[in-house]
Parts: sequence; structure tokens; C-alpha cells
Amino acid sequence: MKPNILLIYTGGTIGMMMDPETKALKAFDFSELLVHIPEIKQLDCHIDTYSFDHPLDSSDMNLKEWRKLGDVIHERYDDYQGFVVLHGSDTMSYTGSTLSFMFENLTKPIILTGSQLPIGDLRTDAKENLITSVQLASQQDHGKPVIREVCIYFEYQLYRANRTAKMNADHFEAFSSPNYPPLAISGVHLNIDKRRLWDWPGNDPAIEVVKDDATKMRYRPELVNDVVVLKLFPGITPKVVSAICNIAGLQGIILETYGSGNAPTEGWFIETLKTALSRDIRIVNVTQCVGGAVSMGKYETSIQLKSLGLVSGKDMTTEAALAKMMYLLHHTSSLPDFRYYFETSLRGEVTE
Ligand code: ASP
Repeated sequence: MKPNILLIYTGGTIGMMMDPETKALKAFDFSELLVHIPEIKQLDCHIDTYSFDHPLDSSDMNLKEWRKLGDVIHERYDDYQGFVVLHGSDTMSYTGSTLSFMFENLTKPIILTGSQLPIGDLRTDAKENLITSVQLASQQDHGKPVIREVCIYFEYQLYRANRTAKMNADHFEAFSSPNYPPLAISGVHLNIDKRRLWDWPGNDPAIEVVKDDATKMRYRPELVNDVVVLKLFPGITPKVVSAICNIAGLQGIILETYGSGNAPTEGWFIETLKTALSRDIRIVNVTQCVGGAVSMGKYETSIQLKSLGLVSGKDMTTEAALAKMMYLLHHTSSLPDFRYYFETSLRGEVTE
């Protein structure tokens, strides 16, 4: 039996055309996009398509649009063996990370892809990205999908989405996954490294309440976005840190620190964080470095953060940490629970 694949178009460069008036790229009709890629009819699967009514530049992605995308997949989950989501590359790593938390115990692939050049461009990277994504989403073993996680496919590499970050605005190779190797490489052969694929262990906080049926796919679309990313820089002032920590209703801060999780040792900085923590704001320490991990206590400049009780983002990307925070703020109520699940790998997003 040929697998059924749902191709979802949310927007992005892949389907954009130049606006004759402004000369800027803007999203256009999905049917136009398919005209440029008749080859997909030759693939060994049945493809249905779904398009957002108003395709987006992914800079306009937000919780409402994530919910819409999640609902589209969830409502059709049983009808398809795999999902390919066409999405702008700008926020693709955020969307991929968020979807990975929204879909617990995923049993099918959700592969996000897009392109750096529109599909109508002669030199476009869109065709290869789209065709190979569909092929990857169609891979079956004994009638079951081989890939059971949220991925990004771009420029010959398949990555775990919640390990990626967009690292280049111009190159076809737009993404990197600094702390986890690619899951598959597309060359002459489509080589999937099965040892690297995610096999969910069922250690999600939300699972605790459904022990009776812990292996079922669960759709968890609820997210809390009263959060902020605070990137440190030499010279950051008390005024700025205090203004951010005192945002009304704030529930979580992703603190982007230096190196292996280091920050200023000045009294005002530590006191401001302490006050925020006493107001039940969760603070997660992630590194500004592209690769590597937070290790609080390694340097004198992170000892205080450790004793204050900051949660370690370990080797998580900022994108994944943000998505996980939005997810866990809804699913946990105490700091120890939040810390435990944050520092535990729920979807392969962190090295334990
Ligand atoms: N600005 C575009 C977007 O993210 C870029 C892209 O598609 O790669 O929607």
C-alpha cells in the first residue's frame, strides 16, 4: 500500500513571488506552487494538500498559527502516514521545536521544509527539498513509518527539528544542528541513520496522568507565552534587566548567558534575578554559543546562578528552550517539577 502524505503549505519563500509594486517577495497561491513541481505526481505515495488561507511569511508565526497548524495535523492524524509542512525558514526551528512538544508520542513523521529561493526561480532549492521531504515522510518499515518525530529537511540533511537553528540567511544550507548529528543524509542514496532517530521513552509530565494509555499519541496544544528571551551583553544595565524581570504577568525567562552558562557577578544582577525567582518566575540558563552546553558551577561566574537555583538548559538551543518553557509552564505547577522535566529529554531536545 502506498503511504498517504499530507502536504501542508503555511507560506514562506518556497511559494513566494515578487510583488510588482513593492519589489518585495510575498506569499502567493499554493496551486501556483504545485504547477512548478509536477514531479511530485511521480512519487511513490498518495499526496493530498492543504493550504493556509492566508500563507505567511514565517516572521508572522505566532501561537495562533501554531495552533492552527497543530489542529490541521491532529484532525487528520489517522488518515495519513506522514506530514510535510512547507514553512518559511526564518522561524522554522521555532515551529519545529514547538510542534515536537505539542505532539507527544508521535508515531508518524512531521517534516518541515522550505527553500531559500522561490520555486519559480531557475536556481531554486525548493524542488529537491520538497521531493526528498516527501520521500522521507513516506519511508515505511513493516507497514509503520520509519521516522516518528518532528524534523527539518534542508539542503540534503534531515535534522531533529528541536536541535536546529537557522544559521545562514543566504546559503542554501540554512540550518545547523550543532549538538546532535543529522538523522539522514541525501546523496546518491537516502541514508537514514536509524540509531539516531527518536524513540520516545514516555517520560513526559503530561504522560503521568494517562498511565493507563501512555503509548497513545497525545495532542498538547496548550502553550504559555508570558515568556521572554534575555540575551546578556557586556554593559547591560540594571535598568534593562530590572524592566524585563518586572514585566507584568511574566512567567518565564530564557537567560542567554556566555560560554558554559556564565553571567556577571555584580550584586545588582544577582539580586534582580533573585527577586524574579521569589515571584515564581522560572529562569532557564542557555548559552549564547552556537554549540556546546551550560555547565553551572564550572566557572566562578556561574556558581551564583547555580546556587540561586536557575534551571539548566544544558545543550538546548534557544528555540527549543523557548518552546519547552511555553509547554512546561502549562503542564507543571511547581519549580521542582518544572526543573526535573526541563532538564530531562522529552523529545530528544537535550543531551542528558
Ligand atoms: N522570510 C521567509 C520566511 O521565513 C524566508 C524563507 O522562507 O526562507 O517566511
